[in-house]
Amino acid sequence: MIVLGVESSCDETGLALYDTDRGLLSHALHSQVAMHEEYGGVVPELASRDHIRRAIPLLQQALQDAGIAARDVDAIAYTQGPGLAGALLVGSSIACSLGLALDKPVLGVHHLEGHLLSPLLASDPPEFPFVALLVSGGHTQLMRVDGVGQYELLGETVDDAAGEAFDKSAKLLGLGYPGGPAISRLAEFGDPAAYKLPRPMLHSKDLNFSFSGLKTAVLTVVKKQDAANVCEQSKADIARGFVDAIVDVLVAKCVAALKQTGLKRLVIAGGVGANSQLRAALNAAAAKKRFRVYYPELEFCTDNGAMIAFAGAQRLQINPQAARREYAFNVRPRWPLDELRVI
Ligand code: ATP
Ligand code: MG
Ligand code: FE
Repeated sequence: MIVLGVESSCDETGLALYDTDRGLLSHALHSQVAMHEEYGGVVPELASRDHIRRAIPLLQQALQDAGIAARDVDAIAYTQGPGLAGALLVGSSIACSLGLALDKPVLGVHHLEGHLLSPLLASDPPEFPFVALLVSGGHTQLMRVDGVGQYELLGETVDDAAGEAFDKSAKLLGLGYPGGPAISRLAEFGDPAAYKLPRPMLHSKDLNFSFSGLKTAVLTVVKKQDAANVCEQSKADIARGFVDAIVDVLVAKCVAALKQTGLKRLVIAGGVGANSQLRAALNAAAAKKRFRVYYPELEFCTDNGAMIAFAGAQRLQINPQAARREYAFNVRPRWPLDELRVI
């Protein structure tokens, strides 16, 4: 069975083809990062318009790379939510229009389920059950995952997401948007002893997170500098202080979640999962505490169509009726992951 995946929830347009026999056939992606950069964040209206412009050429590219025709697709999976309503509507209308034109069934996929299952696309995928840390631009959650559609929320952020903290702190340091990768690179040159920033909720005894205070702590140290004159070294030192603090908290909560569930497999998903300092710290903890940690391929950490095609294919293998010839443009901008049920 070949599933076409369509991702358009935020600022990436992704189209991909996944074959349940042969694996991922192709994926095509356009990131709007450069377009939104001058505004310092995603402009929803511009995002929607750009998805419209990019989707069909990306579909053609994905089909060509896979060496198949549109009629060879068996089902179309699209991101139904959560995300920006207008952006989601573009992917949903493209999926439904294609479905109608080709007489193929469509199914809506939960974006976070796509992220969560993306490590299963790697060459050495984890078995169920596992603990998953979902760290993206909009979410920071620890989940217990017993199978496709079997998700139990263990803890989550009470305010900003980890990716949001990276982006906002990077902005305070004048590093552009999205700042996650930039602040991470700069931190490599920073002195870990220069700034000891707070580790919010490290000792909260639950699996929740809070990152807005960390961003405020960055603001406070930046303000103490002569704004026009923050030298490169102190920027790097602040970046290092920030990254160390956020990584400490993320790793400690992952270890606590493994202890609480008794599981030995940890899966990292979402854009912040691409962070090299987080990966190094998790690998060190895994060696010390004897658990295994799994990551998605770097290119599948941030938004992409492959994870949507894959999640759709997993659902269809459990329940072939999950995709229907019902072409309503049905999106859910807000949609808690633990509301998803086993099909
Ligand atoms: P959500 O999936 O919650 O709706 P999103 O789709 O915007 O949000 P992703 O695409 O998964 O989020 O990830 C984007 C986030 O990941 C951004 O906040 C970005 O700064 C962050 N990010 C990407 N690479 C890195 C990195 N190397 N280090 C730290 N953060 C990173
Ligand atoms: Mg994005
Ligand atoms: Fe995402």
